[in-house]
Amino acid sequence: MAIPSASRAFAWAAAEKLKNWAGNIEYGTERLYPTNSLQQVCDYVKKESKLKVLGTRHSFNHIADSKDCFLSLQPMNEVVTIDRAAHTVTVAGSITYGQLAPYLDSQGFALHNLASLPHISVVGACTTATHGSGEKNGNLSTAVSALEIVTASGEVVKLSHPHDGETFNGAVVGLGALGVITSITLDIQPSYMMRQYVYENLPFSALRDHFDAIESSAYSVSLFTDWQKQRVNEVWIKSRVEQGVEFHATPELFGAKLATKNLHPISDLSAENCTEQMGVLGPWYERLPHFRMGFTPSAGKELQTEYFVPRRHAVEAILAVERLHDQVGPSLLISEIRAIAADNLWMSPAYQQDSIAIHFTWKPDWPAVSKLLPVIEKELAPFNARPHWAKLFAISPQILHSRYQRMPEFIELAKKYDPQGKFRNDFLDKNIFGG
Ligand SMILES: Cc1cc2nc3c(=O)[nH]c(=O)nc-3n(C[C@H](O)[C@H](O)[C@H](O)COP(=O)(O)OP(=O)(O)OC[C@H]3O[C@@H](n4cnc5c(N)ncnc54)[C@H](O)[C@@H]3O)c2cc1C
Repeated sequence: MAIPSASRAFAWAAAEKLKNWAGNIEYGTERLYPTNSLQQVCDYVKKESKLKVLGTRHSFNHIADSKDCFLSLQPMNEVVTIDRAAHTVTVAGSITYGQLAPYLDSQGFALHNLASLPHISVVGACTTATHGSGEKNGNLSTAVSALEIVTASGEVVKLSHPHDGETFNGAVVGLGALGVITSITLDIQPSYMMRQYVYENLPFSALRDHFDAIESSAYSVSLFTDWQKQRVNEVWIKSRVEQGVEFHATPELFGAKLATKNLHPISDLSAENCTEQMGVLGPWYERLPHFRMGFTPSAGKELQTEYFVPRRHAVEAILAVERLHDQVGPSLLISEIRAIAADNLWMSPAYQQDSIAIHFTWKPDWPAVSKLLPVIEKELAPFNARPHWAKLFAISPQILHSRYQRMPEFIELAKKYDPQGKFRNDFLDKNIFGG
């Protein structure tokens, strides 16, 4: 099969410097090849000595970067098949949740959870352990039940949950290090409806005394705080409408008041790009994300950082960050605290521990943010905080390794599929292979 030349890469790549979504990373090459078939992917992988796959470019650090060449699977974005009996959907390598979710719903099916936005690719999200919230909900990669990977030799490897056991658990959060994922199979469930409510001004004292009750108050709970005035600014709760059980929001939640209009997590911003609140009934895929497809998610101009700590240390860790409120305040747009259930995926930050994630949406001021990260990381060190793989962090590779007990086996697995480091980049060399 003929391989299109780099000059025929996407127009947006040629027109301007190739950057990530936030614009804080200018990628190390402009060579971007769109691929539209498994055969073409195999041909590129055999031909190139180094390459990375670009998803929707929503990562904030260099995890997706390359100095050599990129593949974009963007033309490969179809739903391959829904297996109604097995309750799975198989999709091609670049489909986004925004494309998949409404289609799944139209077929009577749903996913267990979504991230704050639907704009990201399923593979990019799962390979970096992207998550939503909900104390009983694993991150998005816990829905993966099979993968098709083109490894460094150009061979096509299929891994699945029932057949490949621990190797599968190692491969799902693969950090882009194992090969090109050309298709992915996800567990699905019957479609469901949800209601979303927002409460304002939850005192930190209530959070301290009733953290478990607050987290278990709905299917998915997100706490937004600017760390000022000893309070959580907004509590977003997303409630599943179970058959025969009607959820009624109380006017108060541990001292927080039910909002009377739709809100943005950053309360000064218009709620226009946010999903519907005020208890309006809607399908799962229009309530689980905070931001609507077709609109700019979050603040737009921003940087992001996120740390996972064991759920049992949640309150201590939150109060540790709160003590930094004067330092963090000037650079912060908003923080979000979410719950993630434990899983068995080797490189997942929630590996074998129920976790909470403390997230920071920063103003786009890297010099200031880069000074704050080690300060926050020092406060969270007693809890062995693990950083989000796709966001900004300063933790050293040595410490990172000490916090991932399956790291040695993951390195072995990556070397099995990619002995010469074809899919490695500076991020992986530093944080995984050199640590
Ligand atoms: C506004 C915003 C909101 C966000 N909200 C959340 C959130 O709620 N929760 C959360 O956990 N994270 C969140 N993130 C982070 C985001 O989920 C991750 O950055 C995720 O990786 C994005 O997927 P992507 O397709 O953009 O991946 P990219 O950034 O393009 O790539 C990420 C990694 O995936 C690899 N990759 C992509 N496709 C393939 C493939 N087909 N085969 C092999 N490797 C591949 C890349 O090589 C790279 O290593 C958010 C990011 C932004 C910008």
